[in-house]
Amino acid sequence: GEGDCEDFAAAVKDLSKEQFTGYLKEQGQPSYRAAQVWQWLYQKRAESFDEMSNLSGALRRQLAADFSISRPSIARQSESRDGTVKFLFELADGETIESVLIPEIHRLTLCISTQAGCGFGCAFCATALMGLKRNLRASEIVDQVLEAGRTLDGERRITHVVLMGMGEPLANYPQTLSALEVLSNAAWGIGISPRRITLSSVGLVPQIQKLMEETRVNLAISLHAANEELRGKLMPVNRKYSLKQLIDCCRSLPIPRRKRITFEYVLLKGVNDSEENASELCRLLSGVRCKVNVIPFNPHPGSSFKRPGEFDISRFGQILLEQGFQVNVRRPRGDDIQAACGQLSVLSSETVSNERWRVEDTPHSLPLTPH
Ligand code: SAH
Repeated sequence: GEGDCEDFAAAVKDLSKEQFTGYLKEQGQPSYRAAQVWQWLYQKRAESFDEMSNLSGALRRQLAADFSISRPSIARQSESRDGTVKFLFELADGETIESVLIPEIHRLTLCISTQAGCGFGCAFCATALMGLKRNLRASEIVDQVLEAGRTLDGERRITHVVLMGMGEPLANYPQTLSALEVLSNAAWGIGISPRRITLSSVGLVPQIQKLMEETRVNLAISLHAANEELRGKLMPVNRKYSLKQLIDCCRSLPIPRRKRITFEYVLLKGVNDSEENASELCRLLSGVRCKVNVIPFNPHPGSSFKRPGEFDISRFGQILLEQGFQVNVRRPRGDDIQAACGQLSVLSSETVSNERWRVEDTPHSLPLTPH
């Protein structure tokens, strides 16, 4: 009757396709209409039910009465001198989150958030300073891709998505999983292949196992230290899931032969960047099918960690290379607009001028030459 639908904000993108099919059934509609509506929302990016021209006028009016089509607003959009674009989105309840668009020669990657803030408290991360505000809904995760996509001109399309923005995706598992389904489904979703989607986790062992059984997305794990003591200091989560549990889990994951786990290692000057740290990392990862992303620390207000010098960064990468690891030393993208790894924080972008935190230009790729 009247009122049962009005009680909850029926944002259509918060329903799973199954739930929406159920609703259509109650309306006496065939179930294939669900795919049609989903194509309008995610492939043709409709902003109103009125545009859905293959539905009857009566059904369009019914849908408009029962549902809304959410759209977060872009509160700010800043562009870095390297072409990286940072979006600050304002959600329906006023919370804000950030996404970062990273253009490269053959790809356009969007880095998205899964929580407003983060509750894991990693010592070096700017988002940690915000604490956890709340989990994002699936629609809020997907909307970052839709809205960033709308700002692109011509034939430019987002080709890759990384869940490496604010928050811990696996601490918001069900919403992240529904979002991944919409992002990757080619028949009625956005259609970004799971091979082009990477989820990064702080190391929640049971959820990592579940994710690898339920999806085909790439997995990145934030490691940052190769022994329990140091990792425990840098990442409080290590007290819940130890390095040993995490690496044992990685060794036993059903990873297809051509795929590898990515380990991320933030290099912190004088903390985890010595030759001994590098050798310890090699021993820890020996026999794990993986690649290692070495991320020189990106400074941000409120952190006293420092980025190592070029020599120490190259030396660290070199040791891993010599041990036969696939290594990628990341150069910061968008660091002049506080958009680089670990710089996403609604606090810092509002209170700190970009100039103060600009770090010197880093060469395009860091030299990793044999000595
Ligand atoms: N919570 C997830 C997703 C965030 S990914 C995770 O931790 O993996 C963001 C990546 O940037 C993580 O690897 C994180 O450890 C890294 N990072 C955080 N702060 C950083 C900083 N200041 N400089 C460089 N990388 C940082």
